[in-house]
Amino acid sequence: MKNEFIKNYIEIKETYVPVIPYSEELSAEEMLLDSHLARIKKEADKLYSVNDPYGIIEWNDDEDIHPELYQFCHKLPKGGDLHAHDNTMIPLDRFIQIISEHAFISLNGQTNGTLYTKYSPDLPSDAIRVSEVLETGLLNEKELRDILVIRDGEEENGYWKRLEKLFSATGDFYNDIPIMEKIWEEGFRSCYEKGILLVEIRDWGVEDDLMNIIRDRTIREAYYRVRKDHSDFLVRLIGCSGKDDYTTVESACETLRSFIRVSKIIKDEFDPADPKDFIIGLDLANEEDISKPLSDFADFLGSEEVRNSGLRLYLHCGESLRRDNDSVVDAYILDSLRVGHAMNLYRFPKLMKEYAEKNIAIEVCLMSNYRLGYVKDLRLHPGLQYMINGVPIALCSDDGLFMTRAPIVDDFYAAILCWDLNLGDIKAICRNSIKYSGLSEKEINHLMENWEKQWNSFVSRQNKKLGS
Ligand SMILES: [Zn+2]
Repeated sequence: MKNEFIKNYIEIKETYVPVIPYSEELSAEEMLLDSHLARIKKEADKLYSVNDPYGIIEWNDDEDIHPELYQFCHKLPKGGDLHAHDNTMIPLDRFIQIISEHAFISLNGQTNGTLYTKYSPDLPSDAIRVSEVLETGLLNEKELRDILVIRDGEEENGYWKRLEKLFSATGDFYNDIPIMEKIWEEGFRSCYEKGILLVEIRDWGVEDDLMNIIRDRTIREAYYRVRKDHSDFLVRLIGCSGKDDYTTVESACETLRSFIRVSKIIKDEFDPADPKDFIIGLDLANEEDISKPLSDFADFLGSEEVRNSGLRLYLHCGESLRRDNDSVVDAYILDSLRVGHAMNLYRFPKLMKEYAEKNIAIEVCLMSNYRLGYVKDLRLHPGLQYMINGVPIALCSDDGLFMTRAPIVDDFYAAILCWDLNLGDIKAICRNSIKYSGLSEKEINHLMENWEKQWNSFVSRQNKKLGS
């Protein structure tokens, strides 16, 4: 009798297992790597105390990183980063390298920590060149970093306030096209070095075609230079407007209209014989809980003008924990191809099923959500629930410059540890970032082949490294 009971007991237990439905099946070689990964994850786990929101890379804290797991995350062929913002995808150390000769910093009073170009009409008389500040030891690199990033413990004044301050502190550069070209190029190079083959960038625009054209052509130049060295690298733009109090609905729609026109002019002509779309979509962003709801823009976003424009929607939505924020519903009705964040989709179970059935992928930005205070323990981030419920997700870096030392690498490190992902889950996330990209079907197939080659050689190399 007891044996029968135990037999049933085991059978029942085997029915209930933690599973991610679209996790990939693994080859023998991949299963071997998965076992190595399980070992290093366990070791890494020991670095963090049980009640800490572990897996977080602090700006100045190398001891908190498990080197083998971190290397694994760095080398991992990730596919695409589908949610990065134009001016903030570059890692901070490279940003400082580029600007230090050109930028002046104010270290006094109201403007403390603000960076200026030499052309700035507001340049204070006592501002000092950044390179000089570092050379003379007025600030060391850590102190300069602390001025330019979001850190833990800044909730007092509000994380978004801090982010806005950082945007305005660095804002003088955004109109300095020659410096921005360097920043974009270095941003792209660093993406490629971190195993990213495609970056889809939110491109912040204005209501002026000429300004948008100059900017987008420069981004394209920066991309071409990286592609000359790496023929398998791709960049695409998603035209983006604000939706906060400073932006009227009319002006936001005018900016998006401008992107529709510019998208017909600027193509990816790296291979002149076979031009491709360069601007692929439209979006609206800003701190959601205090901005206009997406429904204010529904008239325009759902119009024939947008539907026939050849551009798809990739809407920021649900970057909120609130019940009365239903922008995840707006994005669904407006037929957004993917969505950015969707943090509060968990509040809408029926809608979550629709996202899963219609394969509306979510661009999950763990480090950004953490730094902006939406979730203080990434083990509880709802992205894992979305995966478990069959909603496709891709990991993305958002405003990496201000969020973390190695944008996207740290997002994978946090996800692998905090969500306890196995290699099949990780492979599925990487594949999603290509499958649900805004590329054409032909481009997706081609990119997928390139990524699979990278993936297979990564698996053999890691097996050699971790098995020895
Ligand atoms: Zn964003």
